[in-house]
Amino acid sequence: MTLLDGKKTAQALQQELAEEVKLLQAAGDKTPHLVAVLVGNDGASESYVAGKVQDCENVGFQSTLIRLPATTTEAELLAQIEALNNDSSVDGFIVQLPLPKHIDAEKVTQAISPAKDVDGFHPVSVGRMAKGLPTFISATPFGILKLLEKYDINLTGKHAVVLGRSQIVGSPMSILLARNAPVGNCTVTLCHSKTPDISKHTLQADIIVVALGIPEFLKADMVREGAIVIDVGITRVADDTKKSGFRLVGDVDFESVAPKCAYITPVPGGVGPMTRVALLYNTLLASKK
Ligand code: NAP
Repeated sequence: MTLLDGKKTAQALQQELAEEVKLLQAAGDKTPHLVAVLVGNDGASESYVAGKVQDCENVGFQSTLIRLPATTTEAELLAQIEALNNDSSVDGFIVQLPLPKHIDAEKVTQAISPAKDVDGFHPVSVGRMAKGLPTFISATPFGILKLLEKYDINLTGKHAVVLGRSQIVGSPMSILLARNAPVGNCTVTLCHSKTPDISKHTLQADIIVVALGIPEFLKADMVREGAIVIDVGITRVADDTKKSGFRLVGDVDFESVAPKCAYITPVPGGVGPMTRVALLYNTLLASKK
């Protein structure tokens, strides 16, 4: 079993990005600038955004965090987005999800200019991705592709089973794995909450991507020997032994599944850091446009 070390891989990619930023600056080009908009005080969102800002610092990007109170109205947020769309000093920006319930997240996603949509959630970005055109690819699937590429894993002709069909992970992942591309060319099965007998599918899979948000859902008896398992899930589970009061648990029962796998990602330290570095790549792409 080989551990797909997202933390180490992301650090190496950050170093490459930092070198590229130095070259850009030496050539007199603009330093990439990412803006993150955070509405409210959700604990997990706070830490995700702090991580994204820290990543920008690590590689020499400019970053700005815009904090808005939980009482921000939808109209106020849309006005903020419009201002960022028109601000030429900003290459790309994200609005951290989830948003407070009184704000329509889809409206917000669609208000972001596709040219600055570094999260890759806008319908134009999703459509271009589905057509195989150059675009911003949603950071989590993009990070997973980069991880598989770095470990030189050839997926051509493999059967991929994706668990979960969310707009940000499962659905784009299924499209990307089926594309005629260096990390792609799979035959893909996409499972969700209405799929009967999920084990029937996972037991036939060469690669399984699990994005459900159900801690330790995938058990050893659902996986065949030699499979590649990518665990996207992150759930905070209360743990008094931790200073934070919680630990992060993936969607895979790692202890029992790992011994059967050819490759597997850990949680934490797998897909999470790769998602973060993928956002940096999208920001660099935005700054070059
Ligand atoms: P989501 O929007 O809640 O989607 C969950 C998906 O799981 C849905 O498609 C749902 O099916 C399916 N599902 C739920 N229960 C199921 C069951 N019993 N059997 C089969 N399918 C089931 O979740 P998400 O945003 O994709 O996130 C999934 C997990 O990944 C979460 O833990 C999240 O925190 C984590 N995540 C991690 C990263 C990272 O960087 N590592 C990034 C994004 C998300 P239906 O569509 O039928 O409801």
